[in-house]
Amino acid sequence: MIIVLKPSTPPERIALFEDRLRSNYHVKVNRWDGVHSTVLGLIGDTHTVDIEYIDAQDIVESVKRVQEPYKKANRKFHPENTVVKISDNVSIGDGSLCVMAGPCSVESEEQIVEIARSVKKSGAAMLRGGAFKPRTSPYAFQGLKSEGLDLLKLARKETGLPIVTEIMRTEHIDMFENVDVIQVGARNMQNFDLLRELGKTKKPILLKRGLSATIEEWLMSAEYIMAGGNDNVILCERGIRTYETYTRNTLDIAAIPIVKKLSHLPVVVDPSHASGKSWLVEPLAMAAVAAGADGLIIEVHNDPQHALSDGAQSLTPKQFEQVAGRIFALKESMK
Ligand code: PEP
Ligand code: MN
Repeated sequence: MIIVLKPSTPPERIALFEDRLRSNYHVKVNRWDGVHSTVLGLIGDTHTVDIEYIDAQDIVESVKRVQEPYKKANRKFHPENTVVKISDNVSIGDGSLCVMAGPCSVESEEQIVEIARSVKKSGAAMLRGGAFKPRTSPYAFQGLKSEGLDLLKLARKETGLPIVTEIMRTEHIDMFENVDVIQVGARNMQNFDLLRELGKTKKPILLKRGLSATIEEWLMSAEYIMAGGNDNVILCERGIRTYETYTRNTLDIAAIPIVKKLSHLPVVVDPSHASGKSWLVEPLAMAAVAAGADGLIIEVHNDPQHALSDGAQSLTPKQFEQVAGRIFALKESMK
């Protein structure tokens, strides 16, 4: 971290400030006295340094980090890819393409079991389905809640597919004990209490990027989970909010190679929420695979027109079969 001090700062104030930096943050402080101003360089572990506190000091002109503020999620300190093991035969980040598929919301036993069977046949490795739904309107379907979790477990028993489903509250962590991957939705990416509590578990966490989160904010949220001791974090790019209104969100394809360069965590892409339109799912999924995604999470419904949520972006099982065939073929051709 580099701190530029204001011109003509008295030397005794500079010395006091240096002492405070050393004792507060246990860093080494290098000092360069220029003609007009003095520059301090902080060396050591600067992750805990409060940059806003430094910036607020009356003798400070400007301050700049030269190292990212996240450590555990940072590839610099962990060069090899993290592989998150979900079950005996499903892992994410091991070079294979892990496809998760299923409805936006779990609606009934028949619905979830039928969809689970069909997506498995098409090559999905995991079943997705929302039981607790974060809906924009309080009047919209809010999910089957704990009954939805039971139905997902039933579908897992029928098919052997591990399940991924969204948690909304810290108080529900015990209820999610038997879920294979816990999803933190875009709207909860900065629910820091929830992230911290999930960090105390060993569960794989699918961390969606917030609607308007920068890549650094997203990685800092991963850091919250990892700081608690849980390294099983899977990042999910699901589109961000831009000025474009044609699509529900704008898929940030560049985020895939960027995050893979900055971090060792696996990256999954959600082309369904990124586009909001079923016909866009295939091209976006192909682009994500080409850009290096470790997996995809795709919404599939047996009757999209009557789906209780996100029908417009849901593929039918038949469409999913076709899309899956193309994405696996693309992945194969990249070897
Ligand atoms: C979902 O996966 O159904 C969902 C609500 O996703 P997101 O948090 O990305 O909007
Ligand atoms: Mn959805």
